[in-house]
Amino acid sequence: MRDSYKIVLTAERCLMSNYNNALFLGFTACGPKNLINPFLYFRLVCPPVPTYNGGIAKVAPYGLRKIEAALLDYGFDENDVVVVVPDKIRKFVGPNTKIIGISSNDPLGKGPASTTFTGPLGLVRGESYIAWKFRELVTDPYLRKWGAKIVVGGPGAWQLEDPEPRRELGIDVVVSGEGENVVPPLFEKIIRGEDVPEVVYGDVVEVDKMSLIRNPTVCSLVEVARGCGRGCKFCLPTLRRLRSRPLEHILKEVEVNLRDGPRWINLHAEDILRYKAHGIKVNRQAVVELWESIMKMDGVIGVGPSHFALSSVASEPTLLEELSTIVGVGTKDKPWIAGQTGIESGSPRIMSIHMRGKVLPFKPDEWPDVVEQAFGICKDSNWVPCATLIMGLPGETEDDVIKTVELLDRIKDYKSLIVPLFFVPLGVLKNERGFGVQDMNEYHWELMLACWDHDIRWLVELAREYFHRMRWIARAFIMRFVNFVVKKANKRVRKIIYERMEEASKSKTYLKIEEGVLNGWKSINR
Ligand code: SF4
Repeated sequence: MRDSYKIVLTAERCLMSNYNNALFLGFTACGPKNLINPFLYFRLVCPPVPTYNGGIAKVAPYGLRKIEAALLDYGFDENDVVVVVPDKIRKFVGPNTKIIGISSNDPLGKGPASTTFTGPLGLVRGESYIAWKFRELVTDPYLRKWGAKIVVGGPGAWQLEDPEPRRELGIDVVVSGEGENVVPPLFEKIIRGEDVPEVVYGDVVEVDKMSLIRNPTVCSLVEVARGCGRGCKFCLPTLRRLRSRPLEHILKEVEVNLRDGPRWINLHAEDILRYKAHGIKVNRQAVVELWESIMKMDGVIGVGPSHFALSSVASEPTLLEELSTIVGVGTKDKPWIAGQTGIESGSPRIMSIHMRGKVLPFKPDEWPDVVEQAFGICKDSNWVPCATLIMGLPGETEDDVIKTVELLDRIKDYKSLIVPLFFVPLGVLKNERGFGVQDMNEYHWELMLACWDHDIRWLVELAREYFHRMRWIARAFIMRFVNFVVKKANKRVRKIIYERMEEASKSKTYLKIEEGVLNGWKSINR
């Protein structure tokens, strides 16, 4: 193997996995590191990506590939830039190394999922796999042995804008926001030995300035659009403006992935149904053309979305079915298409205060009906929503929480997963107080129970169908864990939730509300 590289790029360990080609298993990295023994977790659930030449990543996170491509397009020499797996990074760092670039989704475990399930405010005390592995990597003294600068970027970089944790971890520079425009000149300055700010803010990158990836990505992820434009108040500012990429750029990146990546292509957008949308209105023709063009490519076995919006589903009710037909889902091999989506609340009042844009083209008052209708369309079209809820949004009342509980009752028969999250102050709401387990009242626990029961109801069936193509040892391990959760842990978790609910009700200081609804829900779920 050659000497050390000038620029060594990597990502924390949980990002450097294909998750056995089950993209949504990536959620587990936000869980507490004692959930599954780390030895088994990092072999069976989150195995490392394949490598060559002693640690060069054959596939890497999409964002890191974008930075690699931007550096090469800017003029950096291919022989100076390498993308490696974190476990083997020491082999590539040496006297020549000037910069170590690290990408992370959630470096301090402060994202909504980690905050809910782990950490000081979470349901389980303890560090998440992601935060643990990031800390372990970034504090490795070997990385500093020859004076290289540590630069951190990625979707979770905002957590390191605070100087205290940044300096404590010995990070030299943080790049917050979109990186393509700012990272190459920043790296050039660092290599020349010039002073650079500790925090560099990336600007909005236009589609023609987005470099095309040169090498395959984790889970064959390809970005089709960036930004959103629906303007939810708690969302990151970088998602303010929707930009759809030209079809030919997307197809070129799919081609790159077909070299070494998985053959099921995952399309990334905040709402796949708004590819080339005219404002809020879905551009059906563009979405269909996108999916058809990819499915026609030699070697592609399927296409799926990272995210989709329920209001887009309801506004174009037959589109999902058409996309399912294009991909050929509904068979044992391809039972359904899954995607992440946001319900966030069942309360029109909360939607109206914080997320007016999310419900468009509908009105906030129509939101519960829109959600139910969209879930029905998903069921009929063989799509499975993995939906988030947010507890503790500023101004939330007991009545708002109850409305969400009621909405869950309406959608309980639709195959899906519901993930409750705590509110994390971000975007326009960044100066508000965050929400934690100590803030949960009995109605929040009631909502937690509704989510738990919903997921337990669907978990085994979904797991069996989702993991059927996984290598047998990983499948056997994950199914064993799922069966343990459903058969053994379920009773215990329900008991704990009821205890918490009772404790919270004893210490309540707020108004009593429609108890009939809650009692009805309890009797349904017992
Ligand atoms: S719909 Fe999603 S991505 Fe768009 S602004 Fe709202 S939370 Fe952000």
